[in-house]
Amino acid sequence: MVLANKGGVGKSTVAANIAAALAMSGLSVGLADVDVHGPNAARLAGIQGGRVRIRDSGIEPYLLALGADLPTIKLASLTFLLEDEDAPVVWRDAYKYDYIRQLFGSFNWGALDCLVLDMPPGTGNELITSCDLLEGHPAFALLVTTPEAIALSDAIKAARFCEERDIPMLGVIKNMTAVTCPHCEHAFAIYPDHVAESLLARIPGLEVLAQLPLSAELASCCDQGEIIVAKRPEAEISARFRQAARLIRDKVHA
Ligand SMILES: [Zn+2]
Repeated sequence: MVLANKGGVGKSTVAANIAAALAMSGLSVGLADVDVHGPNAARLAGIQGGRVRIRDSGIEPYLLALGADLPTIKLASLTFLLEDEDAPVVWRDAYKYDYIRQLFGSFNWGALDCLVLDMPPGTGNELITSCDLLEGHPAFALLVTTPEAIALSDAIKAARFCEERDIPMLGVIKNMTAVTCPHCEHAFAIYPDHVAESLLARIPGLEVLAQLPLSAELASCCDQGEIIVAKRPEAEISARFRQAARLIRDKVHA
């Protein structure tokens, strides 16, 4: 589960890139977009107007090819089931519960090594429902935060939620930590790092799996629907995603 509690910190970007990095490391990977109100996983992967097939045996996930000679990821998102991608989804909790149940149970995921869940913001219905449905399965949480105090405070709440639900924390990915000056290449932090460190220290044993700079290259990839770790493996930020995926594999196997 890729979660943050706060919106706008890059959960979907991290989820897509971690899923791709895990797939490129040889695992069979699914990516489930649990976000009902802002399902962006498909857009980030460059899929427009994608549809899924419904068979007697269930719903076929969208097969996302990461590139020539690269593996595919099985992707499921509410986007694939909407007539109009720009229409707002106005659902009460009972509908959301049904959707998440279908997402986990009615898609033909096949035998996966791991299913990456792109969670919406908040510790409300979607998260509770997902955790209820995953009970009995080995589930882990990956926290995403940006370095400002508000995002970190929200991240702490998400971590506390996981602790209460006995969901082990894989670690945190700190997003948008620094900016590199285009003139002199000097990297500077937008928010003071000691604030982030003191807040994250409130989650005992939390390991930082990656620090991702605010990157124009990553931003343009997201806008173009390209998963950077697959499309530009030579980028420095791609190496950071791969390293995070390696650490995640180690922790899950441990
Ligand atoms: Zn400069």
